[in-house]
Amino acid sequence: MSQRKSRRKFLGSAVAGIGMATLGAHVRVEAVTPSGQQASSAAATTTQRRAAPPIVVASGNGVAAVSKAVEMLRAGSDTLDAVIAGVNINELDPKDNSVGYGGLPNERCDVELDASVMHGPTRRAGAVASLRGVREPSKVARMVLERTDHILIVGQGAREFATAHGFEDTSLLTEESRLAWLRWKETMSGMDKWGPSQYIPAPASPAGEKRLAAERQRASYRLAETYAGGDVKRREELLAWADEVALKPPTGTINCLALDSAFDISGVTTTSGLAWKIPGRVGDSPLIGCGLYVDNDTGAAGSTGRGEEVIYINGARTIVEFMRQGMGPEQACLEALKLIARRYGNDLEKLKDIDVNFYALNKRGDYAGAAIWSHTVSSQGEKRRRQFAFADAQGGRLLDSAFLFERR
Ligand code: ASP
Repeated sequence: MSQRKSRRKFLGSAVAGIGMATLGAHVRVEAVTPSGQQASSAAATTTQRRAAPPIVVASGNGVAAVSKAVEMLRAGSDTLDAVIAGVNINELDPKDNSVGYGGLPNERCDVELDASVMHGPTRRAGAVASLRGVREPSKVARMVLERTDHILIVGQGAREFATAHGFEDTSLLTEESRLAWLRWKETMSGMDKWGPSQYIPAPASPAGEKRLAAERQRASYRLAETYAGGDVKRREELLAWADEVALKPPTGTINCLALDSAFDISGVTTTSGLAWKIPGRVGDSPLIGCGLYVDNDTGAAGSTGRGEEVIYINGARTIVEFMRQGMGPEQACLEALKLIARRYGNDLEKLKDIDVNFYALNKRGDYAGAAIWSHTVSSQGEKRRRQFAFADAQGGRLLDSAFLFERR
């Protein structure tokens, strides 16, 4: 085994117990089980959810966002203003480590953000990608929509554009995300110079031996010591979290879609993208038609999860097109997810780590959230039902997403 692999194993052992846990599907899919047998899904049911507008749908981290947006719509705000104000809550929240400030950085420890916005009634779009130093990239995307003849501005150009519009260059890294990055960096490879040296000489005295033992104990703690101070429990929790995200970078992002009582629609998607990505990597979120699409005559869709899959099938545009052809939002989302599963020959072993979630609503007030997998599983084996956020006159809440495959 290579040094790289053996060092990775250090963290890898933590997730070995997750297991595959699959089979059974909410809709008809010919799935290939880990043993290679064909397994057909149980039932072909879809739920139809409908509510009187104004309504707002978002990813599972968006309960505060949908609540804020619906409140604004009820007070007469424009749909785009409402969804942007909603996701600004996540963008500014240091605890949401998949969006804006506090988002996990790329492999060089730089936080690069992607965002897109679409305004249905005026049929316009704006987006930024690989943007640095702005905590609310959705606002810069809106500037692209309102103040330029372009749709997408990236990298240094996006930074300069933001500066020109008065967005300060601020740090996006929190102490927690820096710790997670360091943990990832130190455990990534045995071939680089990060982490304790592989070449530790034999101690010359009992004091030297004692010192080394203490250092080994402390080495990983030191990363969290400054932050958590003397609070041992907090330090341990921080390290456990850092190990979890180092090994299994969480998917996140917020997508938020709104329909107002005049039946106008807008949407936004904003993210720090995949943790530890190659600098300059762009996901689905800022790509119109992938992480977001709005057609004011039909409906809107958006996504979170593994962006590469969503880009490959042009997820959001595909869903809106399915809805235009007559499918309800849930069926349209599931059909798009099936395209992803088909890319892997419906092989559940290959699909097991692929996490994609779609959200959609149509002009009639039908709405849905759907995911490839019924649950997420943490490296501790904790199962969590896939959910999406929704708000109407009753306020914001979480609802269970439809899914292609049940994770056992
Ligand atoms: N979709 C985002 C991206 O690929 C990441 C995520 O939602 O977790 O950049």
